[in-house]
Amino acid sequence: MDVLIGFAGSVLVAGAAYKKKSLTLSGALAAVVMGTVYYGLGSLLWFGLLLTFFITSTMWTKWKKRAKSQFDHVFEKTGQRDAHQVLANGGLGMVLCVIHYFYPHEAWLFLFVGVMATVNADTWATEIGSLSKQPPRSLLSGRVVPAGTSGAVSALGTSAAVSGAMTIGLAAMLFLYAAEDAAFRFPYTWWLLLAVGIGALVGGVAGCFTDSFLGATVQASYQCTACGAWTEKRQHCGKPTVRKRGFAWMNNDAVNMISSMVGGLAAWGTGVLLLFLGS
Ligand SMILES: [Zn+2]
Repeated sequence: MDVLIGFAGSVLVAGAAYKKKSLTLSGALAAVVMGTVYYGLGSLLWFGLLLTFFITSTMWTKWKKRAKSQFDHVFEKTGQRDAHQVLANGGLGMVLCVIHYFYPHEAWLFLFVGVMATVNADTWATEIGSLSKQPPRSLLSGRVVPAGTSGAVSALGTSAAVSGAMTIGLAAMLFLYAAEDAAFRFPYTWWLLLAVGIGALVGGVAGCFTDSFLGATVQASYQCTACGAWTEKRQHCGKPTVRKRGFAWMNNDAVNMISSMVGGLAAWGTGVLLLFLGS
């Protein structure tokens, strides 16, 4: 029954997103599979956090789109999200959800909350931070760098990241309160809800920081041989770009995966510590 409800809900949301051109067809299909698993094998908490991420990130992506189009030549991907991007944001969570279905444990839930807080914080930081009036600074050197540089941080982007992580934390408390998740004995204590919320906040901030740090150090960064611009793209001005920094295999996907794992582990550690202090 839960699988059917999850499927129906996912078709509704993904269908609307496809119609509004937020998802490509492959992206919408991947979102339906993901939503069905999140609700069918998980709980309202799992599905609700996926939805919170999806709706808020779509909203920020559409916000002041024209002002942000100047970065289209910098970032590897923009615009409609395809299956690859949907899986990059929700794939790790889906794996955790399946494991949690067979072996219910608080660890999977804390990891999941931290992963979702990280992808949400990252997306908010990118979409809102790119509108910063102040130029960003390199996380390592503190020097002013061109907007869109990987690993660059701004006050606006950092505030957006913290808000994005906090939003997942509050949503997690709300949805856990409403759901009976197999990870915890019901009814929940306020302390448990607080541990989940604070875990998400700490995890999201730690994950987002990791993303910027890797972006400033080992992420592959390319330069255009024609116009000299730095980019994540392999092609620019119709010519192949040259890698000037980082490892070739350390692309955006690898950086996101590592950051999500760090965010998940930070949320788990924080949650376990708070539960221990509260017991
Ligand atoms: Zn160029």
